[in-house]
Formats: sequence, structure tokens, C-alpha cells
Amino acid sequence: MIEMLERYIAIDTSYPSYDYDAAIALFIRQARAAGLNSSRITLSSGLPALVITLAGSDSSLPALALNHHMDVVAASHRDGWVNDPFTATIREGALIGRGAQDMKSVGVIHFAALCAFKKQHGTPQRTIHLIMVPHEEMGGFQGTACLLNHALFKDLRVGYVVDEGMPSGDKSCLYVVTAQRAPLHVRITARGTTAHAACLSAHNPVHELIEVVRTLAEKHRAQQAQAATNDPGLLYSYNVTSFTAGSEHTTNVIPAQASAIIDIRIPPETDFESVTNELSALCASYVGVTYEIIAQGITGLPIITQQNPLYQAIAQAAQQHGLATQPHYFQTSSDARFYLQRAITAIGFTPFTGMPNPHGVNESVSLEDLERGKEIMLTLLELFCKK
Ligand SMILES: [Zn+2]
Repeated sequence: MIEMLERYIAIDTSYPSYDYDAAIALFIRQARAAGLNSSRITLSSGLPALVITLAGSDSSLPALALNHHMDVVAASHRDGWVNDPFTATIREGALIGRGAQDMKSVGVIHFAALCAFKKQHGTPQRTIHLIMVPHEEMGGFQGTACLLNHALFKDLRVGYVVDEGMPSGDKSCLYVVTAQRAPLHVRITARGTTAHAACLSAHNPVHELIEVVRTLAEKHRAQQAQAATNDPGLLYSYNVTSFTAGSEHTTNVIPAQASAIIDIRIPPETDFESVTNELSALCASYVGVTYEIIAQGITGLPIITQQNPLYQAIAQAAQQHGLATQPHYFQTSSDARFYLQRAITAIGFTPFTGMPNPHGVNESVSLEDLERGKEIMLTLLELFCKK
């Protein structure tokens, strides 16, 4: 398992290299050696995906998909890594390399657990798929979104998905990601007429924009205050990411226009319209201010409950290996949202107790977490797919 992960990390799947073919070839070779069927799918985006299948005996049961994305975010030795980020390095009981948490390690664990299951139990009752997708870090629109629209996807009969989660940073507990927030990026623009900045009576669009942005910043601060006692994944955020007005060279001119970009995150099960209605009302209360949507995620996604059979199987599997589980709400989003949008149960589960550092410098996973993670995943397959 460690050797396979080392090889996987050595394949650079970061932007813009994306050697997905090498990643897929690695898994096809290993699947063949384990007697597992795999099929490479070319998505409508032109990018490849891979599905490795262990067919179940009961075709009436919806299949379980273990999903992972092949791509990683960029990294360079210059950023302060102990070694080349695409050469896995083992130090003090931990494996360091890009993808050690997010999420090549999890993909290798999925594969190792699937092989162990086949070896120990042969045919499961419920079909198990291992799905490898491209482009999650770029939003998933050329990856999972395309896979779900592919003609072959129906045939997989996926009813449950285990996707990426987050290491817990707690030695006694694992996170189970049961919900995620949706992004809404808006540009707010205040318009007026250019005028001499000495003119006391002139309308200044910059001042109008400041008032709107101040209101949103106050809403953000109010949510921040609640984050001390509430899970941040269930709160709103309104982060101003850009503010543009005037020119430094014309210090005595009131500009005709000012604009700001706000990254809004909307909690699960929340009505998207309540946010846009509020924005409309806010903008309308100032002169010449409007907003437009730049990008919008999938809103209104459900929160998976602890009564869900997949959640229960995950909790039970963790418990059998001495770990508690805790529901966790993603502040960001993952490929799971595309499944949730189709009313397919999708849960994020990265079975690691180490400190979370996805996308960080010296991203690492302990060898203990890797080994136990594989065993937890095998127990999960036994509980949920064997019967
Ligand atoms: Zn990820």
C-alpha cells in the first residue's frame, strides 16, 4: 500500500501537468493483478475517469462507490517542503508528499481495502465501485459533473458514495462530513458621474459602495461571533475579496464607478433566494448600486443524518477500531455535492486522526493512520456490502 501511494504521489497530477493517464495506468495494472475489472471512461470534457468494480451478488441493492479525485493542488520545493513534494518522503512515522491527505492516500486506502475484501470474502452482496475522477480541485465541472451525465453512469447503479472528508486532528475521533456550504460570488457595483472631488454636493458612488460593503462585513462579523459555539459549516460567511474604485493618479476626481467582489458561502438546506432577496434589498437602499452573480454553487443540499445507513456503517466501522465519529460540515465544497444534488447519499470520510493540512506545505499522513484507515475502510465494506 505504501509503495503504491509513493508511486501515485510521484505522478504529477497538479495544474497544468495533469498526468491522469499515468495515474489511471497505475490503478489498472494493480487492479488486473488483483483480478478486478476496471473500465476507463472518456468524459465529455475529454478527460479520463476510471471505475474499478467488484460486482455484488444482489443486483437489487444500490451500489457503494468509493470516490476519489486524482488531481492535487500545485506544490514546489521552493515553498518550504522538506523534499520534492512529488517524491514521497517518510520521516518520523509519517509520509510527506502532495496528496498525502487530499486525497491520493484515501484513493490508495480505498483500493487496498477493496483488494483485501475480495481476498477475504470473494463476492460481496452489494456491488462496490472504486471511482477515480479528474479536476476536482478546479471545481469538478470537467470531472464528476461529466461522469454523472455520462451514459455509462446509470449502469453503475450508485446509491451511496464515500468521498473525501477531513482529518480530525483528534486522536480519539474521526470526522464524518455530512453537509457542505454552497458558494455564491457576487460583484456589487455603485455607479454615478465623475465630478471634482472638492464638490461638497456631488454624489460619490464609492461612499455608497462602502455602506453596502460595511453592512455585509458586519453580517460576516456576526457569523464569526457565532462560530465559537456553532459549527462554521452551518453558518454564512461574507468575505470581501476585492474592492476597486478610482485611480491613484487622479486624487481630486470622484470616480464614476466603484465595485466590490464578495465571496458568500451559504449553509446547507438553505434557500438561495433568501440571500439574493436580501442583497437586492440592500443594494436598492443606496443610490446607483446593483449586484450581479459571478459564480454560483449548488444550494439547498441536504444534511445527511446519523440515521442514514451509510453513516451508521461508518460510525460502527470506526468504533470497531477504537475511534468515535463526529459529524462535520464542510466550509467549502467537494465532488459529493454533485451526488447529493441527485439525491444520492454522499458522505465525506477521510479516516485520519492527524492534523488537517490539505493543500499545505509538507502535507503528511502518519503510517499508523494509513494502516488503520485501510482496516477501517475494510470493516466498512464488510458491514455495508457483505451482509
Ligand atoms: Zn480533495
